[in-house]
Amino acid sequence: MYKRLFQWKDRKGAFMKGLFAAGLSLVVVLSGACIKNGVPVKNSAKGQQVAAGEGDGQDKQDVLSPEASKKQERAEDYYKKRYKKKKASSIVSLRGASKKQIRSMFYQEKISKAVFRRMYRKSYKKGCTVPKSELRYVRVLYYGFDKKTHIGELVVNRRISKDICSIFYQLYCKKYPIEKMVLVDEYGASDEKSMADNNTSSFNYRPVSGTARLSKHSYGLAVDVNPFYNPYLHTVGGKRVCEPAMARKYLNRSKSFAHKIDKKDICYKLFTKYGFSWGGNWRSVKDYQHFEKVLPR
Ligand SMILES: [Zn+2]
Repeated sequence: MYKRLFQWKDRKGAFMKGLFAAGLSLVVVLSGACIKNGVPVKNSAKGQQVAAGEGDGQDKQDVLSPEASKKQERAEDYYKKRYKKKKASSIVSLRGASKKQIRSMFYQEKISKAVFRRMYRKSYKKGCTVPKSELRYVRVLYYGFDKKTHIGELVVNRRISKDICSIFYQLYCKKYPIEKMVLVDEYGASDEKSMADNNTSSFNYRPVSGTARLSKHSYGLAVDVNPFYNPYLHTVGGKRVCEPAMARKYLNRSKSFAHKIDKKDICYKLFTKYGFSWGGNWRSVKDYQHFEKVLPR
């Protein structure tokens, strides 16, 4: 009798264990269904934070359900619209923005009437031989000397505008400090004034300083980065000339100082990776701020 009772108890124990295991599997299956139905996905869409320090990579949010991805798109539109209204140099708060949203803030567009009004008779001088349709207005974000995120703007040639967006996105991710990035027209298209203010810029229809030859800046195919710390050294009538004039002390490139562009610099590495040449490598003159792309005509 006792023996039978024990046997029954054992069987009961086994039965209970089986029941418990079945229950557990049910819970697992149900929670799996919840994941498929989008609960964690929704959270990730809301909560992906700024991932500064990462390169141009694919976003994990590719797995969003069609409905969630529509929401995501709307969020990007909202961000872009809000950001578009702001003037270059403004500080932008990116709290809660996803990587995708941040990447969408590095974009290029045709020269609008409003932008052209700013350029006309300044960087876009009378008799400019480069058609407006060859140029693009680029908006980016940059990591300021104040460690804050700012809006930057450039006018560049349409053939390098995508490269420029990618380069400045990667510089931003690496927190590469840039002091200022507004159109040279804000300085009446005076290169000297723009450089003296350490302004990063590109298009300006002008000859190479001290010559009659058109500069690559005239086509929007050259960018000057942090020019005050990376001056331009050339000779005019046998005299050494530093531009900007006040940046003479940064001509000594054997010294180490902040914002110096050299071959170890991320800026140098990125621009050259995209096929640009660096003015610091030239022999007759040295233009440490200058990156240009030579393209087949
Ligand atoms: Zn230049």
